Amino acid sequence: MKTTLTTCPWCGTGCNFHLFTDERGRLSGVEPAAGHPVSRGQLCLKGWNAHAFVNHPERLTVPLYRRQGKLVPCDWNSALDLLHERLSAIAERHGSDSLMFLASAKASNEENFLLMKLARAGFGTNNIDHCARLCHSSTVFGLAETLGSGAMTNSLDCFEQTDLMLVIGSNTTEQHPLIGSRILQAKQCGADLIVIDSRTIRLARHADLHLRPRNGTDVALLCGIMRQILADGLEDRDFIAARCENFAAFETSLRDCTPERVAAITGVPKEQLVAAARRFARADKAMIVFAMGITQHSHGVDNVRALSNLALLTGNLGRPGTGINPLRGQNNVQGACDMGALPDVYSGYQKVSDPAARKKFAIAWGVDLPEQPGLMATHAMEAAAEGRIRGMLIMGENPLLSEANQGLVRQALQKLEFLAVIDIFPTETAQLADLVLPAACYAERDGSYTSTERRVQRGRKAVEPPGEARADWQILRALLGRCGLPADDSGPEQIMNEISALTPSYAGISYPRLEGSGLQWPCPEAEHPGTPILHVESCSRGKARFSPVTYRPSAEVPDTDYPFLLNTGRTGVHWHTGSMTRRSHLLDREEREPYVEIHPQDAARHQLKERQPLQISSRRGSIEALARITDRVPAGQLFIPFHFVEGAANALTNNALDPESGIPEFKVCAVRLQPC
Ligand code: SF4
Repeated sequence: MKTTLTTCPWCGTGCNFHLFTDERGRLSGVEPAAGHPVSRGQLCLKGWNAHAFVNHPERLTVPLYRRQGKLVPCDWNSALDLLHERLSAIAERHGSDSLMFLASAKASNEENFLLMKLARAGFGTNNIDHCARLCHSSTVFGLAETLGSGAMTNSLDCFEQTDLMLVIGSNTTEQHPLIGSRILQAKQCGADLIVIDSRTIRLARHADLHLRPRNGTDVALLCGIMRQILADGLEDRDFIAARCENFAAFETSLRDCTPERVAAITGVPKEQLVAAARRFARADKAMIVFAMGITQHSHGVDNVRALSNLALLTGNLGRPGTGINPLRGQNNVQGACDMGALPDVYSGYQKVSDPAARKKFAIAWGVDLPEQPGLMATHAMEAAAEGRIRGMLIMGENPLLSEANQGLVRQALQKLEFLAVIDIFPTETAQLADLVLPAACYAERDGSYTSTERRVQRGRKAVEPPGEARADWQILRALLGRCGLPADDSGPEQIMNEISALTPSYAGISYPRLEGSGLQWPCPEAEHPGTPILHVESCSRGKARFSPVTYRPSAEVPDTDYPFLLNTGRTGVHWHTGSMTRRSHLLDREEREPYVEIHPQDAARHQLKERQPLQISSRRGSIEALARITDRVPAGQLFIPFHFVEGAANALTNNALDPESGIPEFKVCAVRLQPC
C-alpha cells in the first residue's frame, strides 16, 4: 500500500491525512496525520470518509456535449475548441461582459488563479466570482472596511490561550468538527463559553450562557450588549485611544439600544443581555467565532461590522486568545478569495480599479485588462435571467442547489446561450449544460489550499483520475493557450511561483516551503515564517475603524399567509449540495432524506407526528420533507438542511441580497406548511 499526505477536501479547518492506495492503484482508505498541527492525529466523520466518493461509478470520465437534447461523448480537443469558440463568439457579438465565470472553493489556489487569469486576460471580463459570495462575502466586506483585511485574525491554537469564547451563528461541532472539539477542550480547561444561536446546537448545551435571539436580529442584540458594556464602564479606553478611530460616532449610535428595546426586538431577556455583556467585557482575552448565522442575511455586512465593533470596544484584537474569527466553510474558500476569484480584485485583494495593480498584471500577462469591477455571482444569475449574461463557465460548483431561489437560478441557467461545466460528477447544474468536462478530484491532482486560519498547505496526487478526466489546471492551461496566452506544460508548482510573484501576501510562499504543515499568510518574503496573528501592532488599514450600525429587519418575515420563519443550513454528515457526500455510502446512510425540524408546540398545534411527510411552501416554491419534532428550534421556526435535491431548501429561500456584499438571505424567509 502506498500512502500520500494531503489536505482534507471538506471544511476550512485544514486537517491533513494520509490516503491509502491499494495495489490496483485505487484509493482504499484514510488515516489521520499524527504530527499535524491542525488535525493532531484526529479526523471527523467526513474526514474518515474522504476517500469514499472517489471511486463512485457516476464519476464523469469523458467530455460530453449536447446534441439533439442529449449529452453525448466527444474528444478533448473538440470539447476545448467548442468551449473556446462559443465563449469567444458570444463575447464578440455581445461584449466580454456578457460572459460569467464561476470559480470553485473546492479547486486549488493554482486552479482558481488560472480561472481568474482566463476570465480577465483570456476573455477580457472581470465577471468572475465563486461561492464565497454565498457564505462569507459579508465578512470580507465588513472586516476589510473595519480592519483592512477580511480574513480570520487569529489562529486555531488561540483556543488554548483564551479566557472566553463567544460563538455566534456557528454550529461549530457539526460544520467544523475539529474546531468544535477545540472549543469544548478549552471549555473543559476553564475558558467561558457564550453561545448566541436561535437553535439549541450541541455547543449550547455546554455553554455558560446561551442567548437565543430571533433570526435576523443580531445587530440589535450586539448593539445592546455594547451599550451595556459602555454603561458599565467596561470598555478598553486605552486600546480605543491608541488603536481605533470613529469612536465618538459609534458611541452616539448606541444611544437608543436600551436592554428593554433590544429585548423587544430580539426576544432575549434583559438579564441575559446584561450577563453576556459583563462576562465578555471582563474577560482579559476573548475570542469571537462566527459563521453563516451571521453572514447570510440581507444585513450580513452590518452583522460583521457589529462584531468588529465589539472586539474593538473591549480591546480583543492583535493578541493571542482574542480576535474576530470567521470560520470559512470550504477547504479552499479562503484561497479562492485570496486568488482573486472575485469580481473586484486580483490575487491578494489588489483592486482591479487601481491603475498600478492593473498595470502590474497587464505587464505580467501581456494584455490590456478591464477596469470596471465585474458582476457578483448572485447578480449574474439575475443578469442571466434577463438575458444580459449569455455564456457561463462553471468550475466545480452546483448553483442550481446552492443559490437562493432555485426557480430563478434554473430560469437563468436555462436561458444562457451556452453553459459549460467542469466537474467530477453529473451534478444538477451539469445536467443543464451544453458542455460538461470531466475533472480530477482532490486525490487525483497536485495543488495547494488555504484554510480558515490562512494556512496554505499542499494537496498531493495519490491516484490517477478516472477515464479521460483531467485536473482543472490542465483544462484551464489548454484554454489559456486557445486564447493566445502562454500555456506551456508547467504544473501547479510553477503556477504557485507566478502567484507569489504577483501577490504580496503570498510572495514568500513556494512549494519547497509548504512541505511540513504549510505557512500562514501574510508571508511577504522567502525567509518569512508566516503570520499566525494579524493586526498585532496596527491594523492592515492603520487604525481600526468603529463602524456604526443600525438594526434593519430581514427582507421577508413571517405573516398570516406564511407564518413560520425558515432557517436553512447544514448537517454534520453532508457537504453542501451533497454531490460528494451523498455518493459516500456511510455518510449517506446517516442522513438519507430531507427533513424539517419543527418545535413540539408547533407540531402539537398542527397535529403532526414524527417523520410525517410535510409540504413546505414559500412565495418562491414548494418542497416535501419529513417532520423532525425537536426543541432544537424555537417555536415558530423551521430548519431545513440544503443538501437534498429531492427536498431542495433553496427552492424556498429568498434571494434578497445584502446591498454591499451581494450575499442572499439564506437564514430568514417566511414559509407555511401542511401535511402531504
Ligand atoms: Fe476535514 Fe473539516 Fe473534518 Fe477536519 S474538521 S477532518 S478538515 S471535514
